[in-house]
Amino acid sequence: MSQIVAIDISHHQLPLDPPFPASWDPQPRTKFPTTIVRVRDSDGNVGIGSGDVMYGFGDYTRYFIGEDPLDLAQHASRLANIEFHAGRPWPLDVALWDLAGKTKGEPVWRMLGGSSPRLRLYASTAVHRSQAAMVTTARQMIDAGFEAMKVRFGRTSLADDLAVVGAIRAAVGDQLVLMVDCNQGWRMPWDTAKPWDIEMAWSVAQRLIADDVFWMEEPLHRGDYDGMAELCRRVGAAGSMRIAGGELTRESYEFRELLSRGCLDVFQPDVVCTQGFSGLASLGRAVAADGKLFTPHTWGNGIGVLANLHLIAGSVGFEGSQWVEWPFDPPEWTLPRRDYPLTTPLQADGGWITLSEAAGIDVTLNEELLAATASNQATFQ
Ligand SMILES: [Mg+2]
Repeated sequence: MSQIVAIDISHHQLPLDPPFPASWDPQPRTKFPTTIVRVRDSDGNVGIGSGDVMYGFGDYTRYFIGEDPLDLAQHASRLANIEFHAGRPWPLDVALWDLAGKTKGEPVWRMLGGSSPRLRLYASTAVHRSQAAMVTTARQMIDAGFEAMKVRFGRTSLADDLAVVGAIRAAVGDQLVLMVDCNQGWRMPWDTAKPWDIEMAWSVAQRLIADDVFWMEEPLHRGDYDGMAELCRRVGAAGSMRIAGGELTRESYEFRELLSRGCLDVFQPDVVCTQGFSGLASLGRAVAADGKLFTPHTWGNGIGVLANLHLIAGSVGFEGSQWVEWPFDPPEWTLPRRDYPLTTPLQADGGWITLSEAAGIDVTLNEELLAATASNQATFQ
């Protein structure tokens, strides 16, 4: 039996010039931080993960060193306990599954029980542009082969947000499925603005239903279970739109509550932020069995995108996800920027992607660029 012999965590910051004006952060981002986790076994294999910064995780590595790297259930249970005490340690779960895949010679999507590694992508935009520029972006996405695109709310004026959706729909007709992220479950650390309440969310929802929006994401605070259940009920009775959320919700009992109370139609937990592969694969299957969609948040670098693609392909597949988030909004958010920790950016095939048969999650790190961008912090400025 091999043993875990080391867990190495490194931080990196890619300078962004021009900066990245993410709609969810009023401060344009001049750096793209990345944390890389490498878990090494006594046979010389290395598993790779990325995601949360994992500051202070060195205090907990003793619970993994010397253990069997393939005891994934025990590792996930300990990571859940560590999350209870400190931060989000799930990049290590990704690294451990990558290592297990390399040990067994299997891709993670197959280890999870998946049968088809082909998934359909939606272009997930990030920047608040003018109506005309958003229409241009929508047309560019269609030309690139995408059949769906997500736009972000959060401009100074809600009327401007709504006008953007109307302008895109008027310009492209039924050539694009549209998603809208209201980001009411998300706040930057300093932002103390109150999230919408049910009546506000419902008034926006009616406008989005009129524009044939596929899902409305985070219309309420992530803990407003009563509001989300009521909104799902109203939206379900009014048309075909869905309510999405849960991207940074942490606990399995919270997701069970969201599922049993009918709070969401689309579940979006991110494997690098929450519960790891095993916990989220079983959640995904429960969500699909209930007739809901399971399609994780993937914003971050290419390692996080890949990890979530493996999770989806390994659990609910195309049927249960329908659309998978592909962070992409050039010129500010390009694949070389997003995937800079990798030797080659991930390759989409128009609006689809097919995962490889390579072992683990199939990550090859760009060691040269990671060395050049090494940093002792993982901030956006
Ligand atoms: Mg979101």
